[in-house]
Amino acid sequence: MLSKSQFIRGRQCHKSLWLHRHRPELRDETTDAQEAIFASGTDVGQLAQQLFPGGIEFAYDDGTLSEQLKRTAEAIVSGVTTLYEATFEYGGVLVKTDILHRGANGWELYEVKSSTKLKEVYLDDIAVQLYVLRGCGLTVAQASLIHINTEYVRQGEIDVQSLFTRLDVTTEAEARQTDVVAAIAEQMQLLAGPEPVIDIGPHCDDPYTCDFSGHCWAHIPSPSVFDLRDHGKPDAFALYRQGIVRLEDVPADQLGWRQKLQVAGTLRQENRIDTGAIRDFLGELTYPISYLDFESTYMVPVPLYDRSHPYQQIVFQYSLHIQDVPDGPVRHHAFLAEADQSDPRPAFIATLLQHLPESGSIVAFNQVFEIGRLNELIADFPELAAGLAALPERFVDLMAPFRRKEIYLWPLHGSYSIKSVLPALVPELSYATLAIGNGSDAAQGWLELLAGTDSAAAARLRQDMLDYCHLDTWGMVRIVDKLREMTNHVAADG
Ligand code: SF4
Repeated sequence: MLSKSQFIRGRQCHKSLWLHRHRPELRDETTDAQEAIFASGTDVGQLAQQLFPGGIEFAYDDGTLSEQLKRTAEAIVSGVTTLYEATFEYGGVLVKTDILHRGANGWELYEVKSSTKLKEVYLDDIAVQLYVLRGCGLTVAQASLIHINTEYVRQGEIDVQSLFTRLDVTTEAEARQTDVVAAIAEQMQLLAGPEPVIDIGPHCDDPYTCDFSGHCWAHIPSPSVFDLRDHGKPDAFALYRQGIVRLEDVPADQLGWRQKLQVAGTLRQENRIDTGAIRDFLGELTYPISYLDFESTYMVPVPLYDRSHPYQQIVFQYSLHIQDVPDGPVRHHAFLAEADQSDPRPAFIATLLQHLPESGSIVAFNQVFEIGRLNELIADFPELAAGLAALPERFVDLMAPFRRKEIYLWPLHGSYSIKSVLPALVPELSYATLAIGNGSDAAQGWLELLAGTDSAAAARLRQDMLDYCHLDTWGMVRIVDKLREMTNHVAADG
């Protein structure tokens, strides 16, 4: 039996399908972030059922497969109008349909995705369902995709009619039927044979990141051509196909100047510091200097709060270090919202306005993120956030000199994220010893706080989250100190 998800896997890569069936133990471990994405997909599926209320749900784990098939067949015969997660099998292919609705002209098939638009892979997904349903004798009049409408803004209870967009893809799914039949036959044949010989390629991440990457990519050394930063030149897979895998084997004329820097740094431990450019950058900073970092939720499809839209990142935490005068003491403020199910943003705005000095530079590492969230707060809470409007123009992006390679240290290996820059420049500070060591962990921590946990565990988790965000801004203070030391820059009192 070939399930729909296996069919889609096989469309991406035959080897992935074969390993899934025959060597499942080789699969990579699932991360917390992936688990959160799966969970949000389940939420979306259940919400979409409300578009066709009153149907019968067939739970995944309710009985054996043959019992599920039998119950579905009985429901169809009995005249039920709407079925959720109904099970069908035809020609050795097994599908579960998200929503099946009996319309005026025949059955309507709805596939629910938490995506914001139609993707090529969804047409295969719907086409194989159409093949099985028609094979089972159902008159399917229409096949549609239901996806998330990014224009939706939550106000009160979720309005499912506005949250979702329906897209009729009957014509496209019908056009794929011949292809689907051929692909099914091919996949069944390969499953009966030995492991297919398929090398790594762009297909490992398209349309999904393959969960056998750890196994298939094990022969790639580190660093390799796949670690070359700055996209476009050269194409790492083109090099790989020529047998060029190690950085030292890449012909210099195929590298851009940033990549030459990266390769020289990695192979010969060379650094580059453009002291003039760094001095110019430091000269942009005016006191008091505020070092600011936000933490936000995962991008989830169903808005968590009023005045937010699908996939909006909701800020719930910040850390702020302030230095008022050159060489002066550095004071710290932090905010981590109460996880009491209420919207964290009003308190976030109010405390930020209290804590931030009214003038001076605001230093962020990758300011696009902080400015983006500030602009959303200004748009979503105009009555509270008017005081934030003047902030974006005060930002100075500490990532910029690293991105522009005005300073390049060989341990960065082409990266310019703060997680790489901080230990390279300030080795005594490290994220490695923290219980929460990146933004994804912090977002996961927020979800755990919201889910409710015993008070001692919640207090520990809050402290871990505070420690992490503190290091982001304290790290920026120390990076600026280091840049001054390296360039003998004398800070001017703004
Ligand atoms: S990692 Fe790439 S080659 Fe290996 S199974 Fe997955 S898609 Fe296929």
